[in-house]
Amino acid sequence: MEALKQSNPGIVVVWKHKALVDDVYYSNMEVFERVFWTFGPCVEGFKHCMSVICIDGTHLYGKFKGTLLVATGVDANFQVFPLAFALVEGENISSWSWFLGCIRVHVTQRDGLCVISDRHAGIIAVMNDPNVGFTEPRAYHRFYVRHLASNLKTHVRRNDMRDMFKVAAYQRQERKLVADMSLIGQACTKAIQYIVQVPLPMWSLFHDVGRRYGICTTNFSETFNNVLKGARFLPIMSLVEFTFHRVNKYFTDRRELSQTRSEQGLAYSPKVTSIMEKNIAKARYHKVEAYNRRLHIYQVETKRGDRIGRKGGHRHTVNFQLRTCTCNKPRIFHLPCSHVLAVCVKYSISERPWVDRVLQSEAYANTYAPQFSQDRTILGATD
Ligand SMILES: [Zn+2]
Repeated sequence: MEALKQSNPGIVVVWKHKALVDDVYYSNMEVFERVFWTFGPCVEGFKHCMSVICIDGTHLYGKFKGTLLVATGVDANFQVFPLAFALVEGENISSWSWFLGCIRVHVTQRDGLCVISDRHAGIIAVMNDPNVGFTEPRAYHRFYVRHLASNLKTHVRRNDMRDMFKVAAYQRQERKLVADMSLIGQACTKAIQYIVQVPLPMWSLFHDVGRRYGICTTNFSETFNNVLKGARFLPIMSLVEFTFHRVNKYFTDRRELSQTRSEQGLAYSPKVTSIMEKNIAKARYHKVEAYNRRLHIYQVETKRGDRIGRKGGHRHTVNFQLRTCTCNKPRIFHLPCSHVLAVCVKYSISERPWVDRVLQSEAYANTYAPQFSQDRTILGATD
């Protein structure tokens, strides 16, 4: 039995009650089983975020001994964007299926979503269940690299394998990935056997083809500290209300900053601006050769700069029509690499078309523009 409470358009709370208690049906009694909740501004704001959802579960040890499931997006500043919450009895196929199903109904129907999670069997089963709405091409499943690396470390009892795996996962070029995998294989057969059973697109940035925007780690602790710290011991209704206040504050804190940047005509979020500055600094050491100016294809040579440890001496081909570079960074991160920026600087071409719309100031401002309604009467009501 499910009850949707939506008398206030700003808050969606879905209660699930048990029909049977110890196999007995009580017509006059409803026993709490699960609750899902999200807020209107989160649903609205998410439309301006990248198509990425991170999901996590954490145990609660307070009055409600269950598990809190949290879904977050990522904003234009690469910070956590609170999306939806649920209290469930624990992590299993049924609870994850219910949570992700609620997200499809109440949060987003967007296709091509990238869902990043740990390797919980319940999540894997649900991502492969066409009835829930997260099978390809509606959604693509990816794993947290750090989580997988730590599983590998436990499996082979070697810290160096964890570190080598992480390096391989972050490689953007196939030849480098292949070389890293070969090193792992030579060093530890058990490690490579473990890695090859996980499909490549789920952990390798090169094979991901840009769906995860380079996001490989969970920012769950960030969400937890910002939105949920101190909430573990609250009773259920107070927890819903608590998150309302904290998410509201989270929006307020970012609304002004993001709107000011947009009004000042600053093109990108602070994080994107700093990435671009670093890439422009690197671009100073590159040598640009017009390869085919008519087709807008350029060859860029990375020179050995003054900086210690700078490798350099590589050649990359930038194609402005296809918006690609052979370093693969533009495709994976949706931002221009230093090679692209070197061409932009030399020929006074704008780099802006290379920056994904969801990473620009306007999207950042739109993400936090939705306002929270102050009428929260729903919170007092239980079904
Ligand atoms: Zn490049």
